Amino acid sequence: MVSLAAPHAKGKKSNDVIFGTSAAAKADIQKIGAEHVVNATIGTILDDDEKIVCLPVVERVFKSLPMADIISYAPIAGTPKYLEDAQAVCFGSHRPDAYTAAISTTGGTGGIHHAVHNYTSPGDEVLTSDWYWGAYKTICEDNNRKLRTYKLFDEDPQFNRASFEGNILHMAENQENVMAIINSPAHNPTGHALTSEDWDFVISLFTELAEKGKHMILFADVAYLDYAGPDARDFFSKFSKLHENILVLVEYSMSKGFTMYGLRSGALIAISSSQDVITEFSDINSFTSRATWSNTVRGAQETLCRIWEDEKLRNEWETEKEEYYKLIQERAAIFVEEAKEVGLPILPYKSGFFISVPAKDSKAACKALYDDHIYLVPLAAGVRIAVCAVSKKKMHGIAAKLKAAMERT
Ligand code: PLP
Repeated sequence: MVSLAAPHAKGKKSNDVIFGTSAAAKADIQKIGAEHVVNATIGTILDDDEKIVCLPVVERVFKSLPMADIISYAPIAGTPKYLEDAQAVCFGSHRPDAYTAAISTTGGTGGIHHAVHNYTSPGDEVLTSDWYWGAYKTICEDNNRKLRTYKLFDEDPQFNRASFEGNILHMAENQENVMAIINSPAHNPTGHALTSEDWDFVISLFTELAEKGKHMILFADVAYLDYAGPDARDFFSKFSKLHENILVLVEYSMSKGFTMYGLRSGALIAISSSQDVITEFSDINSFTSRATWSNTVRGAQETLCRIWEDEKLRNEWETEKEEYYKLIQERAAIFVEEAKEVGLPILPYKSGFFISVPAKDSKAACKALYDDHIYLVPLAAGVRIAVCAVSKKKMHGIAAKLKAAMERT
């Protein structure tokens, strides 16, 4: 095969199983009709009529924007108002007592890219849990980093502190900067969240190493924060007055919280007890933005600001997303209950768009389910069900059919 790619780029190819399975579901829908097909592959909220949900207040405010606010360039870092408001939206009433700053990003993905690019070195490892969102690995590999994993669950199954600690200590022996990505609450793909005590454990481990001179980067991926219940933001307060060698990076995505998935907006927020670290954060990440996407979508930034700064609109937003949080909880409860009834072991689910079921041969199980016109996503160690996208009516029976499919493969 002729290849003109530079050595570091040779062989790169995304093998996106999610879009592949989704394509199979769509083909089946064409053949037998949507009412007979369960497409639990999509990571966006669909209503019970299987239409993509846009929060009504978001649609109204976005459509009312003057054209100039939609099409004109935003500053590279984001509009100053957005940088303030995005932090306020993200932290809620739990703003840490620390210096903070934000830069606008192209969804949550953009912030993950910048963090990996600017806070680790080529060849370094980046830690995340063994159940993880596949884009982490892609971003690491594209930047010549390696994704390392710890076991998310212990026997109980709770957050596996021993595995987390062992991996962090190992990395600290080999690297100057140690970065861990923790996707909590409403973890993709399991719905797990760290408890308050788990966060204390992580912070105390990071503090121990920071005191020894290590640069500790704690990346909190909160992409699903707005669908994680009333206490979801409490843990942000824990990031107050940390050691100067700890930098917390929080990635807030507008994709889910504002249902603006395709408008590619979010904010990477830095938290530190050092103003120098915060100034450096703004400088280096704006530089990387200029070198990648330049600036981000002004219309999305304007939408967030207008909703946040108007109490009535803000309340509408809170109420609307609460409604979908509850709907997703109800759908998940159907699956969790039925899994218990039929004796299908699943990973502990608290909230979020996805539930996961451990499986020996996830690909075979998912393929076998095609016979039932059910489409789930095969992961390395299990099967993922997008409860955000399946109506309550269709949730019934999936657990039993998945169990049967696993038994016959
Ligand atoms: N983090 C996780 C775990 C996700 O699942 C997603 C989206 O699927 C994101 C971050 C960010 O997504 P986006 O770039 O669309 O905001």
